Amino acid sequence: MANSVILYPLGVGDAFTARHFFVNCFISVDGREFFIDCPAYLGKMFHSNNKHGELKLDLHRYRELFITHMHADHVGGLEELAYFQYYKTENPVKLYGPEWLLQDIWTHLRPALEPSVREGGGLAAFDWYFDPVPIPHFHDFGDFKVSYKTTRHIPRTLAFRFDFGNFRLGYAPDTGFDPDLIAWLNECDLIIHDAWFGKTEALGGDIRSLHTPIADLLTLPEDFQRKTLLCHYADTAYRDSPENPSENIGAYRLLQQGKVYRLV
Ligand SMILES: [Zn+2]
Repeated sequence: MANSVILYPLGVGDAFTARHFFVNCFISVDGREFFIDCPAYLGKMFHSNNKHGELKLDLHRYRELFITHMHADHVGGLEELAYFQYYKTENPVKLYGPEWLLQDIWTHLRPALEPSVREGGGLAAFDWYFDPVPIPHFHDFGDFKVSYKTTRHIPRTLAFRFDFGNFRLGYAPDTGFDPDLIAWLNECDLIIHDAWFGKTEALGGDIRSLHTPIADLLTLPEDFQRKTLLCHYADTAYRDSPENPSENIGAYRLLQQGKVYRLV
Protein backbone atom coordinates (compact mmCIF):
# COMPACT_ATOMS: atom_id res chain seq x y z
CA MET A 1 0.00 0.00 0.00
CA ALA A 2 1.46 3.34 -1.05
CA ASN A 3 2.19 6.10 1.47
CA SER A 4 2.54 8.79 -1.15
CA VAL A 5 1.34 9.00 -4.75
CA ILE A 6 1.69 12.12 -6.86
CA LEU A 7 0.21 12.62 -10.30
CA TYR A 8 1.78 15.45 -12.27
CA PRO A 9 0.54 16.36 -15.77
CA LEU A 10 3.35 17.72 -17.94
CA GLY A 11 0.90 18.26 -20.77
CA VAL A 12 -2.87 18.27 -21.17
CA GLY A 13 -3.51 19.37 -24.75
CA ASP A 14 -4.85 17.66 -27.85
CA ALA A 15 -2.82 16.85 -30.97
CA PHE A 16 -3.23 20.41 -32.33
CA THR A 17 -2.43 22.38 -29.22
CA ALA A 18 -0.24 25.48 -29.30
CA ARG A 19 -1.19 26.51 -25.78
CA HIS A 20 -0.20 23.42 -23.81
CA PHE A 21 2.06 20.44 -24.24
CA PHE A 22 0.59 17.20 -25.56
CA VAL A 23 -1.02 15.15 -22.84
CA ASN A 24 1.51 13.19 -20.79
CA CYS A 25 2.06 12.61 -17.09
CA PHE A 26 4.64 11.93 -14.42
CA ILE A 27 3.73 9.74 -11.44
CA SER A 28 5.67 9.19 -8.25
CA VAL A 29 4.79 6.27 -5.96
CA ASP A 30 6.74 6.40 -2.70
CA GLY A 31 9.62 7.87 -4.70
CA ARG A 32 9.47 5.35 -7.57
CA GLU A 33 8.91 7.44 -10.67
CA PHE A 34 7.37 6.69 -14.00
CA PHE A 35 5.95 8.54 -16.96
CA ILE A 36 3.04 7.87 -19.27
CA ASP A 37 3.72 8.81 -22.89
CA CYS A 38 6.54 10.85 -24.31
CA PRO A 39 5.77 13.79 -26.62
CA ALA A 40 8.29 15.60 -28.82
CA TYR A 41 10.45 18.56 -27.75
CA LEU A 42 11.10 17.10 -24.32
CA GLY A 43 13.79 19.65 -23.52
CA LYS A 44 11.47 22.57 -24.23
CA MET A 45 8.68 20.93 -22.27
CA PHE A 46 10.86 20.56 -19.17
CA HIS A 47 12.28 24.08 -19.59
CA SER A 48 8.77 25.50 -19.69
CA ASN A 49 7.58 23.25 -16.88
CA ASN A 50 10.44 24.28 -14.63
CA LYS A 51 9.53 27.94 -15.15
CA HIS A 52 5.80 27.60 -14.66
CA GLY A 53 5.02 24.24 -13.06
CA GLU A 54 4.73 23.26 -9.41
CA LEU A 55 7.23 20.40 -9.66
CA LYS A 56 10.70 20.67 -11.19
CA LEU A 57 11.66 17.78 -13.47
CA ASP A 58 14.24 16.94 -16.11
CA LEU A 59 15.11 14.29 -18.66
CA HIS A 60 17.16 12.27 -16.17
CA ARG A 61 13.95 11.38 -14.37
CA TYR A 62 12.83 9.02 -17.18
CA ARG A 63 13.60 5.59 -15.79
CA GLU A 64 10.27 3.82 -16.37
CA LEU A 65 7.81 4.62 -19.13
CA PHE A 66 4.36 3.47 -20.23
CA ILE A 67 3.05 4.20 -23.73
CA THR A 68 -0.63 4.41 -24.68
CA HIS A 69 -0.37 4.35 -28.48
CA MET A 70 1.63 5.33 -31.54
CA HIS A 71 0.17 8.75 -32.42
CA ALA A 72 2.89 11.38 -32.63
CA ASP A 73 1.57 13.46 -29.76
CA HIS A 74 2.17 10.45 -27.50
CA VAL A 75 5.41 8.94 -28.84
CA GLY A 76 7.05 11.79 -30.75
CA GLY A 77 9.70 12.23 -28.04
CA LEU A 78 10.87 8.62 -27.90
CA GLU A 79 13.67 9.15 -30.39
CA GLU A 80 14.92 12.20 -28.46
CA LEU A 81 14.74 10.23 -25.25
CA ALA A 82 16.60 7.30 -26.82
CA TYR A 83 19.55 9.49 -27.83
CA PHE A 84 19.55 11.31 -24.54
CA GLN A 85 19.66 8.22 -22.41
CA TYR A 86 22.13 6.42 -24.74
CA TYR A 87 24.66 9.24 -25.02
CA LYS A 88 24.20 10.89 -21.64
CA THR A 89 23.27 8.14 -19.18
CA GLU A 90 24.21 4.51 -18.62
CA ASN A 91 20.77 3.16 -17.82
CA PRO A 92 18.30 2.33 -20.59
CA VAL A 93 14.79 3.48 -19.76
CA LYS A 94 12.43 0.63 -18.97
CA LEU A 95 9.65 0.68 -21.54
CA TYR A 96 6.47 -1.17 -20.58
CA GLY A 97 3.68 -2.41 -22.82
CA PRO A 98 2.27 -5.46 -24.54
CA GLU A 99 4.77 -7.24 -26.79
CA TRP A 100 3.07 -5.95 -29.97
CA LEU A 101 3.32 -2.34 -28.79
CA LEU A 102 7.03 -2.70 -28.04
CA GLN A 103 7.52 -4.14 -31.52
CA ASP A 104 5.54 -1.26 -33.05
CA ILE A 105 7.77 1.20 -31.20
CA TRP A 106 10.95 -0.37 -32.54
CA THR A 107 9.50 -0.56 -36.05
CA HIS A 108 8.79 3.15 -35.78
CA LEU A 109 12.20 4.13 -34.39
CA ARG A 110 14.41 1.63 -36.16
CA PRO A 111 15.27 3.55 -39.37
CA ALA A 112 16.75 6.35 -37.26
CA LEU A 113 18.09 4.50 -34.23
CA GLU A 114 19.57 1.39 -35.82
CA PRO A 115 22.38 3.15 -37.74
CA SER A 116 22.95 5.78 -35.02
CA VAL A 117 25.80 4.20 -33.12
CA ARG A 118 29.01 5.16 -31.40
CA GLU A 119 32.31 4.89 -33.23
CA GLY A 120 33.08 1.32 -34.26
CA GLY A 121 30.14 0.98 -36.62
CA GLY A 122 27.52 -1.71 -36.74
CA LEU A 123 23.83 -1.47 -36.19
CA ALA A 124 22.19 -0.74 -32.88
CA ALA A 125 19.41 -2.83 -31.37
CA PHE A 126 16.30 -1.71 -29.51
CA ASP A 127 17.79 -2.69 -26.17
CA TRP A 128 20.77 -0.38 -26.68
CA TYR A 129 18.36 2.47 -26.12
CA PHE A 130 15.51 1.09 -24.06
CA ASP A 131 14.91 -1.84 -21.79
CA PRO A 132 11.68 -3.13 -23.35
CA VAL A 133 9.62 -5.07 -20.82
CA PRO A 134 6.55 -6.87 -22.18
CA ILE A 135 3.74 -6.91 -19.65
CA PRO A 136 0.54 -8.97 -19.72
CA HIS A 137 -2.92 -7.45 -19.24
CA PHE A 138 -2.37 -7.51 -15.51
CA HIS A 139 1.06 -7.00 -14.01
CA ASP A 140 2.28 -6.61 -10.43
CA PHE A 141 5.10 -4.07 -10.23
CA GLY A 142 5.52 -4.56 -6.49
CA ASP A 143 4.85 -0.95 -5.55
CA PHE A 144 1.71 -0.91 -7.68
CA LYS A 145 -0.32 -3.06 -10.05
CA VAL A 146 -1.17 -2.21 -13.63
CA SER A 147 -3.84 -3.45 -16.01
CA TYR A 148 -4.75 -2.19 -19.46
CA LYS A 149 -7.53 -2.36 -22.00
CA THR A 150 -7.77 -1.26 -25.63
CA THR A 151 -9.86 1.84 -26.28
CA ARG A 152 -12.05 3.11 -29.11
CA HIS A 153 -9.44 5.22 -30.90
CA ILE A 154 -7.04 4.02 -33.56
CA PRO A 155 -6.56 0.25 -33.22
CA ARG A 156 -4.05 -0.78 -30.53
CA THR A 157 -4.60 2.19 -28.23
CA LEU A 158 -4.43 1.47 -24.50
CA ALA A 159 -6.08 2.79 -21.36
CA PHE A 160 -4.41 1.94 -18.05
CA ARG A 161 -5.53 1.28 -14.50
CA PHE A 162 -2.93 1.81 -11.78
CA ASP A 163 -3.71 0.22 -8.42
CA PHE A 164 -1.65 1.67 -5.58
CA GLY A 165 -3.29 -0.55 -2.95
CA ASN A 166 -5.31 2.21 -1.35
CA PHE A 167 -6.06 4.26 -4.45
CA ARG A 168 -6.82 3.43 -8.06
CA LEU A 169 -6.13 5.69 -11.02
CA GLY A 170 -7.71 5.22 -14.45
CA TYR A 171 -5.95 6.76 -17.43
CA ALA A 172 -7.59 7.01 -20.87
CA PRO A 173 -6.20 10.04 -22.70
CA ASP A 174 -7.34 9.06 -26.20
CA THR A 175 -10.66 7.30 -26.58
CA GLY A 176 -14.04 7.62 -28.20
CA PHE A 177 -17.11 7.32 -26.01
CA ASP A 178 -17.13 3.70 -24.86
CA PRO A 179 -19.54 2.53 -22.12
CA ASP A 180 -17.51 -0.68 -21.56
CA LEU A 181 -14.38 1.35 -20.98
CA ILE A 182 -16.30 3.77 -18.72
CA ALA A 183 -17.48 0.81 -16.59
CA TRP A 184 -13.89 -0.47 -16.36
CA LEU A 185 -12.58 2.95 -15.39
CA ASN A 186 -15.41 3.54 -12.93
CA GLU A 187 -13.77 1.10 -10.49
CA CYS A 188 -11.10 3.77 -9.94
CA ASP A 189 -10.98 6.61 -7.43
CA LEU A 190 -9.72 9.12 -9.99
CA ILE A 191 -10.01 8.99 -13.76
CA ILE A 192 -8.20 10.91 -16.46
CA HIS A 193 -10.34 10.87 -19.62
CA ASP A 194 -10.30 12.21 -23.16
CA ALA A 195 -12.58 15.18 -23.95
CA TRP A 196 -13.54 16.71 -27.29
CA PHE A 197 -14.70 20.32 -27.35
CA GLY A 198 -16.53 21.75 -30.34
CA LYS A 199 -18.23 20.24 -33.39
CA THR A 200 -18.56 16.47 -33.47
CA GLU A 201 -18.26 16.36 -37.26
CA ALA A 202 -14.50 16.72 -37.41
CA LEU A 203 -11.32 15.13 -38.74
CA GLY A 204 -13.17 13.74 -41.75
CA GLY A 205 -16.12 12.12 -39.95
CA ASP A 206 -17.89 11.67 -36.64
CA ILE A 207 -15.32 12.41 -33.96
CA ARG A 208 -16.88 9.76 -31.70
CA SER A 209 -14.74 7.09 -33.32
CA LEU A 210 -11.63 8.85 -32.00
CA HIS A 211 -12.51 11.14 -29.11
CA THR A 212 -15.30 11.76 -26.60
CA PRO A 213 -17.54 14.82 -27.04
CA ILE A 214 -18.53 16.73 -23.92
CA ALA A 215 -22.20 16.04 -24.72
CA ASP A 216 -21.57 12.28 -24.35
CA LEU A 217 -19.61 12.74 -21.13
CA LEU A 218 -22.52 14.72 -19.68
CA THR A 219 -24.81 11.68 -20.03
CA LEU A 220 -22.77 9.86 -17.34
CA PRO A 221 -23.73 9.81 -13.64
CA GLU A 222 -22.62 12.70 -11.46
CA ASP A 223 -20.42 10.51 -9.23
CA PHE A 224 -18.40 9.52 -12.33
CA GLN A 225 -18.16 13.16 -13.36
CA ARG A 226 -16.94 14.29 -9.92
CA LYS A 227 -13.98 11.92 -9.93
CA THR A 228 -12.96 12.48 -13.55
CA LEU A 229 -10.47 15.01 -14.87
CA LEU A 230 -10.68 15.78 -18.58
CA CYS A 231 -7.55 15.84 -20.69
CA HIS A 232 -6.48 15.95 -24.35
CA TYR A 233 -8.60 19.06 -24.65
CA ALA A 234 -8.60 21.86 -27.25
CA ASP A 235 -6.94 25.22 -26.72
CA THR A 236 -10.46 26.67 -26.71
CA ALA A 237 -11.53 24.61 -23.68
CA TYR A 238 -11.01 27.63 -21.45
CA ARG A 239 -10.16 31.30 -21.90
CA ASP A 240 -8.44 32.54 -18.73
CA SER A 241 -8.31 29.67 -16.28
CA PRO A 242 -8.84 25.91 -16.61
CA GLU A 243 -11.11 26.25 -13.58
CA ASN A 244 -13.54 28.20 -15.78
CA PRO A 245 -14.18 26.05 -18.88
CA SER A 246 -15.58 27.75 -21.97
CA GLU A 247 -18.59 25.45 -22.05
CA ASN A 248 -20.66 23.52 -19.55
CA ILE A 249 -18.74 20.39 -18.46
CA GLY A 250 -21.06 19.40 -15.62
CA ALA A 251 -19.23 18.15 -12.52
CA TYR A 252 -16.06 17.33 -14.48
CA ARG A 253 -12.88 19.35 -14.08
CA LEU A 254 -10.15 20.05 -16.60
CA LEU A 255 -6.83 18.40 -15.85
CA GLN A 256 -4.29 21.16 -15.23
CA GLN A 257 -0.79 21.20 -16.69
CA GLY A 258 1.98 21.77 -14.14
CA LYS A 259 -0.22 21.13 -11.10
CA VAL A 260 0.58 18.54 -8.43
CA TYR A 261 -2.28 16.13 -7.68
CA ARG A 262 -1.67 14.29 -4.42
CA LEU A 263 -3.60 11.01 -4.76
CA VAL A 264 -2.31 9.40 -1.55
ZN1 LIG B 1 -4.28 9.45 -30.42
